[in-house]
Amino acid sequence: MQYTDLIIKNAHMMTLSTFGEIVSGTLVIRDEKIIDIIDGDQHSYQADHIIDAKGALVLPGFVDCHTHLVHSGSRANELQYRLQGMSYQEIQQRGGGIHASVRATRTADPEILYRESLERVNMCLEHGTTTAEIKTGYGLEPATEKKMFDVIHRLNKESDLETVATFLGPHVYPEDQDPEKYLDWLLHEGLQLAKDQAEFVDIYCDIGAYSFEDTERFLNKAKAEGLDLKIHSGQFESLGATGLAADMLAVSADHLDHVAPAEFDALLRAGTVPVFLPGCSYYLRSTYPDARPYLDAGMPVALATDYNPGTCPSLSIPMMMSLAVMHMGFTAKEALKAVTINAAKAINREDRIGSIEKGKQADIIITSVKNLDDVIAMFGCNPVQYVIKKGKLL
Ligand SMILES: [Zn+2]
Repeated sequence: MQYTDLIIKNAHMMTLSTFGEIVSGTLVIRDEKIIDIIDGDQHSYQADHIIDAKGALVLPGFVDCHTHLVHSGSRANELQYRLQGMSYQEIQQRGGGIHASVRATRTADPEILYRESLERVNMCLEHGTTTAEIKTGYGLEPATEKKMFDVIHRLNKESDLETVATFLGPHVYPEDQDPEKYLDWLLHEGLQLAKDQAEFVDIYCDIGAYSFEDTERFLNKAKAEGLDLKIHSGQFESLGATGLAADMLAVSADHLDHVAPAEFDALLRAGTVPVFLPGCSYYLRSTYPDARPYLDAGMPVALATDYNPGTCPSLSIPMMMSLAVMHMGFTAKEALKAVTINAAKAINREDRIGSIEKGKQADIIITSVKNLDDVIAMFGCNPVQYVIKKGKLL
């Protein structure tokens, strides 16, 4: 007889590991970790806490590998502009867009910024997200970029969500500074700040953001500093940065609405994780990219919310899965893989989270549905009933 912390019985598990799918199994958790996975209910473990899943679907905690969760203010007013037919770029030119969030985040009291972000964190957890990557990039000046890092790290420490910090100093160019001067800051002090505070650096290469040349300079310098790379590329146009990032062995390349054939080949060669963000296509009412060629080529395709106040104000991973299946060529199983083990790979954590496996961190979701197809079918509904993070029932 072995005593453990938590046992989940009668679980319909999709493990995303060599255990595959177990229609009725038992999951044993001790000291924040999964210590055993049993097909059926024959075992000799005892625990103070036993949850009877009653045949419900049990999944690894979702990993949201691309968010802009820390910001102040709302941009819900942009919805009306968009419905009047204004483009993302036009809204930006009218003082909306990223710059509106920059102004609000710069002036926000650190405590208020933390509390606004904590509300979003709780929404993540409610929807089954147990780990989220969070980017800076609403500061575009040193003090606010640091203030954002402080919030990201404090959320990791004080909330139940595990956060992963990414430096996105090159989100857009600041309105109030000479671009060359800001780029110079990014390449020197900015990257030093990233080395101190972040696991990844990211740059937004697109029309209205950073050029291919600036992106190349930034990524080269970041790589020379030993930082792991991510990129926002191909959202509105392909400027060639997806291929560039892949050739530099970026961990992930995100958006990918517009990708040239040579860039696709570069991603495949490099093993870079392609991250699709269907919430943006939904909210911007643009064409969804076709993920089928990436899936067929065997790439470790991931999905994320890209939560941000302007182009995807949603934190629901189940909704992203549904959009991916309905519009982007994913099967339900591929969508699940894309928000668990592949998303974990996009943040260098596939050895610790993203699947139900012995020895992995016990990040588990117990849903209220019986099958994965229900998660996809019940779009807009939250199928998550219980969330367990590091073995703790929230
Ligand atoms: Zn983004």
